[in-house]
Amino acid sequence: YVKRNSSNKMAFYSINIDNNISEKKRLENQLQNALAENQFTLYYQSFIDSRKEKIVGFEALIRWQHPEKGLIPPGVFIPLAEENGLIKEIGDWVLEESCREIKKLNNRFNRNYFISVNVSPEQFISQDFIKKVKSTLQKTGLKAENLELEITERTTVENIDYTVKALNQLQELGVKTSIDDFGTGYSSLNYIKEFAINTLKIDKSFIDEFITDNNNRAIVNTIITLAHSLNLEVVAEGVETINQAEKLKAVDCDLLQGYYYSHPEPIKNIITELEKLNQQ
Ligand code: C2E
Ligand code: MG
Ligand code: MG
Ligand code: MG
Repeated sequence: YVKRNSSNKMAFYSINIDNNISEKKRLENQLQNALAENQFTLYYQSFIDSRKEKIVGFEALIRWQHPEKGLIPPGVFIPLAEENGLIKEIGDWVLEESCREIKKLNNRFNRNYFISVNVSPEQFISQDFIKKVKSTLQKTGLKAENLELEITERTTVENIDYTVKALNQLQELGVKTSIDDFGTGYSSLNYIKEFAINTLKIDKSFIDEFITDNNNRAIVNTIITLAHSLNLEVVAEGVETINQAEKLKAVDCDLLQGYYYSHPEPIKNIITELEKLNQQ
């Protein structure tokens, strides 16, 4: 695997919307039209198999190409969309667009890359979500096993009974599921055991000082051991240094993701990179 220098071209949008009500209202109004105006775009960040040192899949990460403000990161507008209900429509768009793009990528390179899609609680618990997943797979032709849905502990603890049911239905479809930002929420180990999930994604905050901090190292080791004993895969998110990558491999972490390997990039950059890798 070749490490590539990549600049993260996201113009950081730094207004603190919590302290600026009118700015928040304005942004919220503009968000209503963003979908119709085609202003959303997806960036893709690779997952690296830690043993083979190869790209095995990508996570879809949404950005808002705002006509005046430039690229706005999801941390700014996803919470707004969750508040005002727009998240369902946006989430549907992300699901379909990313499945279509990864299917095209797999055809082009004759591979089986998977796509991992972030799903908000409001989206996950909505009546027609499972139906939407099914129809999206049909429409795009992507294999169910090449789709992974990332939910957070917030989704699971707020809706335990429903979550158990929905995860079972997704498993029946053959779609994979993961718990994102694992370790930062309140999921009890008891529930983890009940959930038909495939993967735990260890939150970046534990990886940040994985090397230097004994407590974080203990937490990461424990999550990996727990996951493997429950037959789950583990992803480390936010891997930024070779040191972290090597140590995570040594403790048997399955997949690695982070700036050390690659930043999230538009699909055309991913294609260029895969073409280069294929020529080697
Ligand atoms: P997440 O799903 O936990 O995604 C990881 C975030 O960390 C991404 O930020 C990614 O760009 C960033 N990241 C990845 N590797 C590194 C690293 O090595 N160092 C650092 N400092 N950061 C790294 P991003 O793209 O701004 O997304 C933030 C959050 O927004 C995501 O966190 C996810 O919760 C949410 N999000 C993004 N796209 C979507 C979407 O389509 N739907 C929903 N519902 N939420 C989304
Ligand atoms: Mg995620
Ligand atoms: Mg995450
Ligand atoms: Mg995270």
